[in-house]
Amino acid sequence: MKDKRGRPLILISNDDGIEAAGILSLAAALDSIGDIVIAAPLQEMSAVGHAITMRDPVRARPWPFRGPSGQLTAYAVSGTPADCVKLALDKLVPRQPDLVVSGINHGPNTAVNVIYSGTVSAATEAAILGIPAIAFSYCKWGNGDFEASGRVAQKVVQQVLSNEWPPGILLNVNIPDIPYGQMKGFMITRQAQARWEEQFAERLDPFDRPYYWLSGTFVNLDKGTNTDLWAVENGWVSVTPVQHDLTAYRAMESLQQWDWDEQA
Ligand code: MN
Repeated sequence: MKDKRGRPLILISNDDGIEAAGILSLAAALDSIGDIVIAAPLQEMSAVGHAITMRDPVRARPWPFRGPSGQLTAYAVSGTPADCVKLALDKLVPRQPDLVVSGINHGPNTAVNVIYSGTVSAATEAAILGIPAIAFSYCKWGNGDFEASGRVAQKVVQQVLSNEWPPGILLNVNIPDIPYGQMKGFMITRQAQARWEEQFAERLDPFDRPYYWLSGTFVNLDKGTNTDLWAVENGWVSVTPVQHDLTAYRAMESLQQWDWDEQA
């Protein structure tokens, strides 16, 4: 799949939008490793999960995006992260990419947040098509220093490009908010059992009608020391293999024991 020069083609997307600091850092970090195409949402799309656009057209506008090597091929897409990857793979890339990367997200995507994350969904979209994919998240909200995260991304991408890839799997990488030299290394993890305890703030609009604003509290229920949350809290880069097949295989056998009527 690599071109004659052996340089891999890397498609980059995110959910924080094409102007986010995180995607700029990711493109800068990978510019020396491969040929880059960027297709990212025009607007921030955090927590849209795997939403896709069906009732409206999707537009891709060429976007001025500078990397260390100069102008990169980039498009601002009027859609979700999953739209960006779907559209790019069908219409925007010159050949099938060797790798699709998403991020670097502003904030963690650990535990149950994987299912809400647009960052992870961009990578999932590639994994569904059998393309190696990685989602990167920096465990600090807002505009932190993405320099260390960029160095981590370089290392993970080099690993992925030089190893055999299990089809349908993506890597969900969470990077702790500490200097690069203080990171302990990479830990292969599972998603922690955690949940949001929803607390909607309730206020009144100018017409005295109540409205609600989501502002939940994140609660870690997991005592394990091999989870994504434990890893980043203890100074490790968390690497979780994630699949999109949501079938609960362990429930199939007991369900088959139920007294299902022959007539559906
Ligand atoms: Mn985001």
